[in-house]
Amino acid sequence: MKKAYILLASLLVSSISFGQKNFTDQTRYIQTAGSATKLEGKILQVNIFVKLKDGPSFSKTQKTEILKILPHSENWLKREAGKYGKSLTISNKTYGTDKDFTISSDPDPDANNEKWTEEVLKQMGYDNPMDLYDELKAKDPFDQMYIVFFINAEAQSYSMPCDKDYEDDDAAFVESAAVFNNFEGKIITDKTEEYVVPHEILHLFGTLDLYKGPHQSEESQEFAIKTVQKSIMLGSEIFLDEDEEQWELPQYEIDEFNAYIMGLHNNYKKWYDVLAKKFAKSYK
Ligand SMILES: [Zn+2]
Repeated sequence: MKKAYILLASLLVSSISFGQKNFTDQTRYIQTAGSATKLEGKILQVNIFVKLKDGPSFSKTQKTEILKILPHSENWLKREAGKYGKSLTISNKTYGTDKDFTISSDPDPDANNEKWTEEVLKQMGYDNPMDLYDELKAKDPFDQMYIVFFINAEAQSYSMPCDKDYEDDDAAFVESAAVFNNFEGKIITDKTEEYVVPHEILHLFGTLDLYKGPHQSEESQEFAIKTVQKSIMLGSEIFLDEDEEQWELPQYEIDEFNAYIMGLHNNYKKWYDVLAKKFAKSYK
């Protein structure tokens, strides 16, 4: 009897500490933290142009082209949030338009070094990203905020979301994405690469990747391809032959699983657990 009691007590504690009982709700709980929590309301997007110490600067034309794709990302996010009855506006504040910020540390995802973001912020005059956040919020209040670093280098873009474990950590609170100018021979302003910007932004609101990697196994990727093929979180290369015509941004959608993770709807379905399982387990 006593043993059962202890087991019951520990079950209670674990379900209370997560406040949840399945992989999907556990994931949803972990992901709602940081400066971008809900895809709705007044959103401030801070764009920062960055170059590597030994690399080329962005040209004026390149910067203009990049700024031109931002409304496409905004309109797409509006369209997708609108499907769930949410409305939003995104205003942009851009730094480094005249002169790029230069970093000496490596921002490549494989370098596993997020120190470069501090380097940029220091050059902008902030010791802590929270100081930038507070200053911008005091000037013109917003509901959500995140930074997109545009980096003139070749690498796979990635995001730096904040989760519940780091919620009280000032340096981690302000969420950001690193978007690289080229990857595998394609530039970010290419029609078939425009999806990368909203894809990375959505991570900051809590979404998971649906292709094989830290968030999915081979099997769950297969499941995603069958179930939510149009998802922007699947990326472009998974289900399309390289010779096949690649999709452009308007053809993608926010899948219903990730919409649930982001809190766009509350209609939980059991199959969501297939896509949440690997990530949720990495938190045990
Ligand atoms: Zn991703």
